[in-house]
Amino acid sequence: MPQKETYDLIVIGSGPGGYVAAARASQLGMKVACIEKASNLGGTCLNVGCIPSKVLLDSSEYFYQAKTEFAEHGIKTGRISLDLATMMARKEKVVNDLVKNVQSLLERSKVTIIRGAARLAGGREVSVSGGDDGATETVLTGEAILLATGSTPTSLPGITPDGDRIIQSSQALSLKTVPKHLIVAGGGYIGLELSSVWARLGAKVTVIEMLSQIAGTMDNQVARNLLRYLSKQGISFQLNTRVTNVKTTKSNVKVDILSKEKEDSIEGDLLLIAVGRKPNTEGLGLEAAGVDTVPNTGQIAVNASFETSAKGIYAIGDLIPGPPLAHKASAEGKAVAELLTGLPAEINYNTIPSVIYTAPEVASVGLTQDEAKQKDMPICVGTYPFAGTGRARCLNQIDGFAKLITHAKTDQLLGAHIIGPRASEIIAECVLAMEFAGAAEDIARTIHGHPTFSEAVQEAAVLATECTVARGPGKD
Ligand code: FAD
Repeated sequence: MPQKETYDLIVIGSGPGGYVAAARASQLGMKVACIEKASNLGGTCLNVGCIPSKVLLDSSEYFYQAKTEFAEHGIKTGRISLDLATMMARKEKVVNDLVKNVQSLLERSKVTIIRGAARLAGGREVSVSGGDDGATETVLTGEAILLATGSTPTSLPGITPDGDRIIQSSQALSLKTVPKHLIVAGGGYIGLELSSVWARLGAKVTVIEMLSQIAGTMDNQVARNLLRYLSKQGISFQLNTRVTNVKTTKSNVKVDILSKEKEDSIEGDLLLIAVGRKPNTEGLGLEAAGVDTVPNTGQIAVNASFETSAKGIYAIGDLIPGPPLAHKASAEGKAVAELLTGLPAEINYNTIPSVIYTAPEVASVGLTQDEAKQKDMPICVGTYPFAGTGRARCLNQIDGFAKLITHAKTDQLLGAHIIGPRASEIIAECVLAMEFAGAAEDIARTIHGHPTFSEAVQEAAVLATECTVARGPGKD
């Protein structure tokens, strides 16, 4: 007979959604179990996502700067060479330290950590297969069950990644040698970040993108400039182009592509497929438990309280609709824990920032100029180049601009799109302004330190406010 344990909340998955929910619920007095099937806690983000990619982006940027930029600062270095094994070992250390932090957070919060693959077993029961052979079964009962099993990469139709010549993001974060020619299918943020890493470390990189712009969801003007900057760094792009077929040999990969103009093929030594992710629902027992999914995407449908069609079963993070981002998953995890303990909680999906950690960085929140236009909103746009700020000049990182979209009648900030140094950090003030329903004038009148990159946002806010004043209330 399998043993049965009872909890107030059973969380399946320990990614940024699951571990945050588990810790918060436990801190609020619930008896919580968190089940994880991978050997490490922390999910995609800590192990094969946000963290290892940012470690490699930071390390490779240092390498690139040392080679190409130090000299003009008067720093003589001699011949710079790469020790990839050390770079990778450092990445592993950062990941492992953060995984340990998650473990100690859960332990400190008195969450029971259970190792194994979980499945909904009907009603409020969850079955966990664990042990070395995966054959030991434990059944847990939960007053509430939270699904936080995240997502995994998808591939292209008819193309199966072999982990050798055809790889996905997890493998691209652990290559043992720098590829000679890395072909990347997909110009979204994962494809662009990994292209940047390997191009900086010396690979020839070609990105194949089906759409007419890279970073598809970003503001068009920002995306066009990002394309220009990355091209200058040596990355080649083929837009409006699809991968149709892939053939591999022992040392090579031949990628057939199709654009409006012609069929062609490119040869390289590695193909990275970075075309999107799918929700991890396989084997979760959704149907038997009565949990409905969203047609087409397979994501789990939830209401405003994150409850699925099955009472008492909740879902968050990459499993449900919305931007597949770690901070969105964590915010939802915290919200579920608070709602379950009777506290008020809600997520403002209009103010979730997204960042691409290329050089320059790209960060965005709220409406793009095109989206505002599609909504027929009268808007003002304030755009200010980083070249106009003292700090950018000091660092010689003058590429890019801050662009604010405001309502032309009220001056309310509707969106912010920044391409430039430290965009990932600067966007926070725009998110905060939007969270407070603030106006560009609020940012314009806020005193910013000098010289800082954030002065570009302040100057863009001044311009947006001047536009609103010039147009006057009531004029469209
Ligand atoms: P996950 O982090 O995927 O965690 C789900 C967990 O559930 C996993 O540990 C999995 O093993 C476990 N699990 C699955 N099924 C079961 C089961 N049946 N039983 C038990 N356990 C199970 N986002 C950002 O915000 N910023 C970034 O910079 C960023 N960079 C990224 C870079 C890359 C290369 C990738 C791939 C992703 C990146 N992301 C980034 C996205 C981010 O990683 C995800 O949005 C985030 O991890 C989703 O969190 P989650 O908790 O929903 O799921």
